[in-house]
Amino acid sequence: MADCIFCKIVDGSIPSKKVYEDDQILAFYDLEPQAPVHVLVIPKQHISCADEVDESNSGVFAHIFEKIPQIAKELGLTNGYRIVNNCGDDGCQSVKHMHFHLLGGTQLGGRMV
Ligand code: AMP
Repeated sequence: MADCIFCKIVDGSIPSKKVYEDDQILAFYDLEPQAPVHVLVIPKQHISCADEVDESNSGVFAHIFEKIPQIAKELGLTNGYRIVNNCGDDGCQSVKHMHFHLLGGTQLGGRMV
């Protein structure tokens, strides 16, 4: 989608530090890490947020959750991690291309908000 930062990362017109890629998904380091390890995992297809998930596109999210353990292991997250998805304004979603934050590398805080 035009003007979507993450679509531009997918097509290579904006650089990223990739940690995993296949035909359906991409994982890359967050520009402003909030933990020692902070990676974003995205579908290559433009899906704005969780509100847009339906029967026609949900398969890619199963794929993401199948790959996250492999990505986490490769990043050395052997003692656990957190997966975060922000949706919409109240969820503080700043990039409107659905993504999962994979955070770890330290003992994370116990509160979600
Ligand atoms: P959210 O607030 O959940 O929408 O998260 C968006 C995330 O994208 C933030 O953590 C940003 O630091 C990150 N981000 C924005 N632009 C880039 C970029 N060009 N490369 C890597 N991460 C980015």
